[in-house]
Amino acid sequence: MRTVYLDNNATTRTAPEVVEAMLPFFSERYGNPSSMHSFGGKVARHLQAAREQVAALLNADPAEILFTSCGTESDNAAIMGTLHSYPEKKHFIMTRVEHPAVLNVGHYLRARGYRVTEMGVDGEGRLDLEELRHALDDDTALVSIMTANNETGVLFPLDEIAKMVKERGIPFHTDAVQAVGKIPIDMKKTPVDMLSLSGHKLHAPKGIGALYIRKGTRFTPFVIGGHQESGKRGGTENVPYIVGLGKAAELAMKHMDEENGRVRALRDRLEMELLSRIPNAIRNGTDKDRLPNTTSISFEYVEGESILLMMDAVGICASSGSACTSGSLEPSHVLRAMGVPFTAAHGSIRFSLSIYNTEADVDHVITHLPPIIERIRDISPFWKDYQAGKPLSAMMAGEHAHHH
Ligand code: PLP
Repeated sequence: MRTVYLDNNATTRTAPEVVEAMLPFFSERYGNPSSMHSFGGKVARHLQAAREQVAALLNADPAEILFTSCGTESDNAAIMGTLHSYPEKKHFIMTRVEHPAVLNVGHYLRARGYRVTEMGVDGEGRLDLEELRHALDDDTALVSIMTANNETGVLFPLDEIAKMVKERGIPFHTDAVQAVGKIPIDMKKTPVDMLSLSGHKLHAPKGIGALYIRKGTRFTPFVIGGHQESGKRGGTENVPYIVGLGKAAELAMKHMDEENGRVRALRDRLEMELLSRIPNAIRNGTDKDRLPNTTSISFEYVEGESILLMMDAVGICASSGSACTSGSLEPSHVLRAMGVPFTAAHGSIRFSLSIYNTEADVDHVITHLPPIIERIRDISPFWKDYQAGKPLSAMMAGEHAHHH
């Protein structure tokens, strides 16, 4: 059976070129880049080359790139590293739609006495910048706002946000894990202090990330150890994966036009066809400012998990906007923050494409998904109630959500 992989925001295929670039560093080039001998020294040169490749993708200086173990570590290091640098300041600002790698750090900080502001979003997933302006104060140690949302693809106005925060002299971090490699990002133009990225979202392997730290930014190491990474992160560098991330960054620059042209057109066609062929289907998030590869669509009165299982049976890989926790299907925090009704949030599916997708992939989904939704609705009491004009059952109306 063919596999149609439309879950690239969860993870991407490692590019064959990336695998090839990594291989020698698992075998003959196994030296430690910190060694004094030339066997290690040669490896250090490849580390530097990778740093240059990642810096080029962000239009940054290589010295501003810190390699980490993943996007989550980059986010944690940025937040904790900054707060430790400003111990007298006790206010942290983030949004309600951040990835758990930021969101749960915020919650952790709140439990330890920090004042934490969680900015809300509107029905289309957009921030209110005036709300942000009012949230900034003299006690604010850091603002962390994502560049692109992993579930909806909605882009926040990074330039405007960064400028507003920097005008107040407050450090600014952005989780750009879903944006890097998909849209142009320019550190010479956008005054962010720190930016997180993750290899496996841009065709490098899982378990490698980077944190951009602008020159002059105060930063306290999060991983304490040896002198590696200019003393900013202990631990012998993951050389093969760093080399892989460098190659992936180089490829991302090469593929940027295709991502924003061909991939965007594929996404648009997929979305348009699904919205027009399937009744009661709604797109989540603004159409205007979003990633070229992502669409989140709610199919009202059906369970996302049922859709995923039936799509899986025809080889389609996607994600739902709800997580099955302790037996109850809880819609994602992102869709809840957007005020998406439970009847729609329960049946939300995220499709996320990459340069490896084809027109045939889109055709496959357009052919198979409409009958799947129809079949599920045929046996759905919620759909029957809806069609009969009956009031919703408690579960679909979201009453159980009050327990959380
Ligand atoms: N931030 C965002 C927006 C993400 O989508 C992800 C990955 O799902 C992460 C952070 C975490 O990245 P990693 O899986 O490399 O820890």
